[in-house]
Amino acid sequence: MNHRTGTSARPFRLQRSFLGLGLALGWVSVAASVSAAGPFEAGVDAEVSRNHASVEGLYKALHAAPELAFQETQTARRLAAELRALGFEVTEGVGKTGVVGLLRNGSGPTIMVRTELDALPMEEKTGLPYASQVKTTYLGKETLVAHSCGHDLHMASWVGTAKTLVALKAQWMGTLMFVAQPAEEVLGGAKAMLDDGLFKRFGKPDFAFALHTWPMAYGRIGFGTGAVTSNSDSFEALFHGRGAHGSAPDKSIDPVLIASRFVVDVQGVVSREKDPFAFGVFSVGSIQGGTSGNIIPDNVALRGTIRSYDPTVRSRMHDGIRRTATATAAMAGAPAPEIKITAGGDAVINDAALVERTEVALKAAFGAGVSRMPPITPSEDFAEYGKAGVPAMFFLVGVYDPKDVEASRQPGGKPLPINHSPFFAPVPEPSLKTAVKAMSLAVLTALGR
Ligand SMILES: [Zn+2]
Ligand SMILES: [Zn+2]
Repeated sequence: MNHRTGTSARPFRLQRSFLGLGLALGWVSVAASVSAAGPFEAGVDAEVSRNHASVEGLYKALHAAPELAFQETQTARRLAAELRALGFEVTEGVGKTGVVGLLRNGSGPTIMVRTELDALPMEEKTGLPYASQVKTTYLGKETLVAHSCGHDLHMASWVGTAKTLVALKAQWMGTLMFVAQPAEEVLGGAKAMLDDGLFKRFGKPDFAFALHTWPMAYGRIGFGTGAVTSNSDSFEALFHGRGAHGSAPDKSIDPVLIASRFVVDVQGVVSREKDPFAFGVFSVGSIQGGTSGNIIPDNVALRGTIRSYDPTVRSRMHDGIRRTATATAAMAGAPAPEIKITAGGDAVINDAALVERTEVALKAAFGAGVSRMPPITPSEDFAEYGKAGVPAMFFLVGVYDPKDVEASRQPGGKPLPINHSPFFAPVPEPSLKTAVKAMSLAVLTALGR
């Protein structure tokens, strides 16, 4: 078990008394007669039920019409129209295809809620009636497109949250800043929006929230403090050798052998050099060289991904990977390889105070469904808003039937499709309802009323 789970899973009873403390301190300004579920829950529940049919309809429509990073023009237009209909002041084309909606409702904090707009270049194999059949051109090739990361569910719940908060306008004061961000999958959209003046043109929010689907039981909500996703860096190496006839390896410097040795030896960096308690992964996902079985090629190209939570682990892994690549080539008497390590995204850092305050409200509404979780290994460019100085919280919502989750845990059980699987298929109800309710309560709590 990861050492970061040390603060996890407080017993529910303790959380209830924590809520009592919250009430006493005035975090939740209600009389003691209000249920432990908080002052907003009944109103939020009513709106969630009232809007569910339209939210689910939007989800299925978005699912069937996915668009790739920075090409999300129809998706953005649809979301902009939804916000406009609710009375938001909407700006489109921020950071190429991003949307910003502002709703001012008296003096109070500004709360940002982010969704992603983009889908993935892959085939969907769920067989759902609303499965995507969309094709587009990507890197010069025709490809299928699918919402296999759940960004469609994030968008629909984002609209559902906006509807809920607008309906409950009499109960809060402040400004809503709803941001629909392009190109999360290529980790470029958040930066594009910030570079296009997101916080300069529309104001810097006091707090920011985002949620993400995750292959756990619906009704479950999970989060942590500190790093909750990984640092992501891409790796490229070109190993040079000397080509020759496959029957005469002595006339060659064999880059296939060098690359193969590197792929194996570099895992020693992960297992021997970094802190064994700290998360770190290096995976080579692409290895390309040669044209024929009887020709030793001139060179071999490798591409991989480096993931970590901690900056020290990150830099140790970069050093070790470079050193191993250089040494492996030197060992074969080959020229030095060309190595490129490019920083992708930084880990999303959850603000501890914001998490603790939000946790009280979520625990009150969802009880034992809410728990602290260790960080997840994927990366997310929601990190950029935190790096720009906004206290932020990123949380996960479950999307599968609890019975299926339980069955998947049994010996020989079928693993549930994770995000980016062609079979990833969230159950729309109640996953959407949980997402809308959780985000609405998070925002209302942050608004401080
Ligand atoms: Zn994704
Ligand atoms: Zn995603």
